[in-house]
Amino acid sequence: MSGSLAIIGLGPGDDRYLTREAEEALASAEALYGYGRYLDRVPIREDQARHASDNREEGARAKAALNHAAQGAHVGIVSGGDPGVFAMAASVCEEIAAGPEIWRALGVRIVPGVTAMLAVAARAGAPLGHDFCAISLSDNLKPWELVVKRLDAAASAGFVVALYNPVSRARPWQLGDALARLGRHLPDATPVIFGRAVGRDEESVMVTSLAEAPGIAADMATLVIVGTAETRLIPRKDRAPLVYTPRAVEKVVA
Ligand code: SAH
Repeated sequence: MSGSLAIIGLGPGDDRYLTREAEEALASAEALYGYGRYLDRVPIREDQARHASDNREEGARAKAALNHAAQGAHVGIVSGGDPGVFAMAASVCEEIAAGPEIWRALGVRIVPGVTAMLAVAARAGAPLGHDFCAISLSDNLKPWELVVKRLDAAASAGFVVALYNPVSRARPWQLGDALARLGRHLPDATPVIFGRAVGRDEESVMVTSLAEAPGIAADMATLVIVGTAETRLIPRKDRAPLVYTPRAVEKVVA
């Protein structure tokens, strides 16, 4: 019997964000692996085994799921947002690359989901309407020096930047440093969006400027989008402003 592994994106929030493909993949799994808080969002039947693990145990979780699939089971691993964005799909590939031959014989399917950056952008308007990039501020797996280099390159090249993993208990200062670094290239008035727990009951979205952004609280459930010199606000009476980045740029500013 040949086993398989599906790496399933749950989207950013509740089950309104679950795609039909993800729903089907969840239903057809015999066992589901994942971070406990993500697994809690998934209805699990009595005949499905549930293997919850801690957020930081991605490598061990991937290995356990691959071993289970190698025994012939249809296994699912859940991931918040999209599994390919700073998440389980890359972790599983890393384990397959370094692991036993039998893991390469497994069917592996990655089921996409709505990543946090898109959900936050949609709440604010169209900040990603022109070229953009995503950077994780976690320096667990890369040196901070590299993050700084990428922030400089992104802002000086005119990319809107989505900052994933802006803050954690172990990483309290990185967001402040990143905003200061972006401020070397961008005007004080550059729009900045803080989206927290988007798609869940406790969702909050706030639009501010690069000068004010260091005073705004953020945590592990927050995604920060920093605009460019082109990104604009449309103020509206009794409504939140619309933030957008126009699609056209007429000339290159040196
Ligand atoms: N695979 C996930 C990202 C994992 S990294 C995805 O595609 O969205 C975890 C980071 O994603 C968090 O620190 C936060 O920056 C962001 N994030 C995840 N869910 C979010 C949500 N509902 N609202 C805002 N940001 C979120």
